[in-house]
Amino acid sequence: MMNITEILTRLGIKETNFGSSTGNNWLETGGKNITSYSPVNGQAIASVQVADEVAYEAVMKKAEEAFVFWRNIPAPKRGEIVRQFGDALRVHKQDLGTLVSYEMGKSLQEGLGEVQEMIDICDFAVGLSRQLYGLTMHSERPGHRMYEQWHPMGIVGIISAFNFPVAVWSWNTALAWVCGNVCVWKPSSKTPLCAVACQHIIAKVLKDNDMPEGISSLLIGNAVGDKMNNDKRIPLVSFTGSTRVGRIVSAAVATRFGRSILELGGNNAIIISRDADLEMSIIGAVFGAVGTAGQRCTSTRRLIIHEDIYEEFKNKLVKAYGQLRIGDPLDQHNHVGPLIDTAAVEQYTQAIAKGKKEGAEFVVEGGVLDAEGYTSGCYVKPCIAEVENHYEIVQEETFAPILYLIKYKTLDQAIALQNGVPQGLSSAIMTLNLREAEQFLSAAGSDCGIANVNIGTSGAEIGGAFGGEKETGGGRESGSDAWKAYMRRQTNTINYSNTLPLAQGIKFDL
Ligand code: NAD
Repeated sequence: MMNITEILTRLGIKETNFGSSTGNNWLETGGKNITSYSPVNGQAIASVQVADEVAYEAVMKKAEEAFVFWRNIPAPKRGEIVRQFGDALRVHKQDLGTLVSYEMGKSLQEGLGEVQEMIDICDFAVGLSRQLYGLTMHSERPGHRMYEQWHPMGIVGIISAFNFPVAVWSWNTALAWVCGNVCVWKPSSKTPLCAVACQHIIAKVLKDNDMPEGISSLLIGNAVGDKMNNDKRIPLVSFTGSTRVGRIVSAAVATRFGRSILELGGNNAIIISRDADLEMSIIGAVFGAVGTAGQRCTSTRRLIIHEDIYEEFKNKLVKAYGQLRIGDPLDQHNHVGPLIDTAAVEQYTQAIAKGKKEGAEFVVEGGVLDAEGYTSGCYVKPCIAEVENHYEIVQEETFAPILYLIKYKTLDQAIALQNGVPQGLSSAIMTLNLREAEQFLSAAGSDCGIANVNIGTSGAEIGGAFGGEKETGGGRESGSDAWKAYMRRQTNTINYSNTLPLAQGIKFDL
């Protein structure tokens, strides 16, 4: 039986907490307190004091100082700190995963899965700390050597969304730290306690290694994001959130010639071919659409189904939805938990109304639940509607469990429908036909950052580069060579001859 008070205590969370920290130092500010309510049962969990101007400046000053120290620590030694951070996460996995589930509302399995992703990215980053490779090139000039190397950038600002309250931070920090950067994190104000807990865990690791304050900092409060966008001391802002806010962040950071990594909204589709394994496709589609109550950037929002199997697949889906259990996400018997807050419920309700106005035919009706067990007001029914891809509501990302069905005749048409939205994050095809699979993966296939065959759209492994195209922002995080976004490349040419030949054979005689 979960005892949330004990869990909070073990994670260092009190009834009221400071939300500004340079590591072990927590700063009292003049900022107001925000209370975090659990969408699971509507109970207040604890409160956090938001950062004010003074705290912001104090954090930035410490971060600047820490960078001067941290950039000179050899990368494998930085990796050793990240290794210890991964070990600390292993110790706290159950507590932190439970807090994620309780504060954000995702299932306990997914909460624990998020912490596992943090552990995995730490392991990945430790290996990476010995592999920040640059290339060597052959110079066209005799007696010259040319190569490139990668240097840290400085302070990395991390602005994160509510739906992955801990994993997204670690994807960024673990890589940014081994690359030699220091990090300042502004988490979502909807999940501030998860951030406070993470900061306690890393702060202890840094203290145990006699590291200075400022390597990992935290600033909670909505106004902080805007400050970070415009702060020249932050050469890289890694932003995860909606396309609407990402547009603001991207423009502000670009105006000052900063760099940004943008991980924005998705509108992900699965193509269900006539040659699909339908049983497997049902599981992939239902988990993709209702898992995390449709609040993953990779949630399945559209199913593009071949006309020959459309009715059969629709009936199977309706049957599967009839078996879904909605309720407390900490109870492992339930499939669907709550939305994050009542504002999200309102957006869900409005999207259904808008869809109906545009002609959506609901084959599984939605609705807000209000019986016993749903007192937080955040529980809704996952629903399914038959639509056309061009409807305005289908072109948008509604962060809720609403699934749209669209019929197709040819694969070319299905791919055009799949690509025919402004977003470009995750996509999938269910087919046992090799020609179809390869066409979907070809240059003429999916235009998304993630394209899967016989796997749904939802979720990803840390080993691959994660991100999407078009209005998803173009950023890549996590695996593969995503680390390069956290460093600056420098090309070096060394002349060890006793003459000074110029490139391109240019003569300059004095
Ligand atoms: P959101 O855009 O409302 O908020 C994201 C973060 O931006 C929060 O920390 C918020 O406080 C901050 N913010 C708000 N205004 C800001 C401003 N002017 N400048 C800087 N920061 C500001 O998003 P959300 O509701 O928390 O999360 C859901 C969205 O995030 C969905 O669109 C989802 O698809 C997206 N998301 C994308 C990915 C990805 O990797 N592509 C991952 C998770 C979530």
